[in-house]
Amino acid sequence: TSFEDLQLVEPLLQAVNKLGYEKPTPVQFQAIPPALKQLDLLVSAETGSGKTAAFLLPTLQHLLSVPPSRRGARVLILTPTRELAQQILQNCQQLAEFTNLTAGLITGGDDFKRQQNLFRKNTDIVIATPGRLLELMALDTPYLSSVEVLILDEADRMLDMGFREDVLNIVKHCSNEERQTLLFSATLTHFGVIKIADQVLKNPKTVAL
Ligand code: AMP
Repeated sequence: TSFEDLQLVEPLLQAVNKLGYEKPTPVQFQAIPPALKQLDLLVSAETGSGKTAAFLLPTLQHLLSVPPSRRGARVLILTPTRELAQQILQNCQQLAEFTNLTAGLITGGDDFKRQQNLFRKNTDIVIATPGRLLELMALDTPYLSSVEVLILDEADRMLDMGFREDVLNIVKHCSNEERQTLLFSATLTHFGVIKIADQVLKNPKTVAL
């Protein structure tokens, strides 16, 4: 199977080519088709598996195919650490190079003002750590009801780091009924992951590798 077979649009194929990705990794091959159908996903994938592109490619394609319905961020990606957020941003900028889509970070150790502006400027894709996003939400309510795709990356690690209540609180603000939610975790047998998947996903398709 090639990336062309996955029916990705031209600007994304161009980016994938430029990055030298020859063919989809197993998690990409299994997760991209159902994600493109707007299904919720529960995916087991480790770092290094190509999981970031597995959630970014269908999400970017959604943004390119559907006009925004409201003001505010269209995609919210929650990840446990600032380093992971930075890696996701880098991969996102690479994959979105031939589009006009914008992305930004909400993580600790960076200027609050600049991060508040991300929401004011209608950044398409916001990549955040849960604690910092809640701190920002306490100051200034970002429009999370505009979120069309919510991604929980490394969910098991977020829960192990004690972010359970923070994640649930943020999810509550992502109140768009049509929201698509993608949950990625190294393991799907983690009790906390099973519980949170039950609370945030609607009829998810499970992709277990
Ligand atoms: P990740 O598991 O998302 O952290 O990705 C690990 C590394 O694999 C990153 O450097 C990606 O740029 C790279 N990568 C992702 N998908 C592919 C692919 N289909 N072919 C080759 N490399 C890839």
